[in-house]
Amino acid sequence: MALKNAYPLAKKTIEKPQTIVEVNGIEIGGKDLAIIAGPCAVESEEQLFTIAAFLAEKGIKILRGGAYKPRSSPYSFQGLMEDGLKLLKRVSQKYDLAIVTEVMDLSLLDTVYPYTDILQIGARNMKNYHFLKELGKTDKPILLKRGMDATIEEWLLAAEYILMGGNQRVILCERGISTFDHATRNTMDIAAIPLIKQLSHLPIIADPSQATGNRDLVSSLSLAATAAGTDGLMIEVHNNPEAALSDGPQSLRFDQFSDLLNKLKLMSVINDKKIPDFQLKTHFN
Ligand code: PEP
Ligand code: MN
Repeated sequence: MALKNAYPLAKKTIEKPQTIVEVNGIEIGGKDLAIIAGPCAVESEEQLFTIAAFLAEKGIKILRGGAYKPRSSPYSFQGLMEDGLKLLKRVSQKYDLAIVTEVMDLSLLDTVYPYTDILQIGARNMKNYHFLKELGKTDKPILLKRGMDATIEEWLLAAEYILMGGNQRVILCERGISTFDHATRNTMDIAAIPLIKQLSHLPIIADPSQATGNRDLVSSLSLAATAAGTDGLMIEVHNNPEAALSDGPQSLRFDQFSDLLNKLKLMSVINDKKIPDFQLKTHFN
């Protein structure tokens, strides 16, 4: 049952209709569509720098990449950890990219903090309330994924935990929820986007990569989320998805990402959100 005035700080009001989180000259929650892109995981210097060079050339300003990966199996690639963080720092300096990377656990916060511009909190941690309280004391933007089993109210209450600590820069990220259907990895809740826009002043972005698990569905869902009013997209992109150590099947190839940017640009004609002027070339050499 819905609680009454459950999340006063996250709630949209006349005084507080919209929060804008600014990162590296990009406004998340502002008038432009913010695009975050990059590999699921940092795998090597060559992989990260190749992807970052391509994205920077396209005009992308915020790079994603996990250095610590929450994998279902302990035998799967767990991330390069501190070595991955160091690569992220170097690539951010070379290509003027802001970084978003996941903090998997409170014990890793001090380690990850200096290397990132946005702290990503994974779906599996959305209900880790002690962790959320501690994140409220930090002064960097928090990208709060929706838990795969979380209701909209539980998600906004999780944001409330962070806001209560004093950190006002929370970005919500819809990444699909678990349903009975396993045809896609998760089920993208598109309605969550306009609903959050009604309920909360916090910016919301969509992650169609975790939502589908299938690169051939990512473009359509990105367009759908944009039509639904998302403030941004977070998209996994890889130079060689077949060889990816994490989430290869859902990672866009470079040409697919370029095509998506072109489609988003066309969509901006009919949408409220202005799409920034990306390079309209289809291939990167
Ligand atoms: C990711 O972004 O690669 C990821 C693991 O996300 P989530 O926490 O949404 O599963
Ligand atoms: Mn991933």
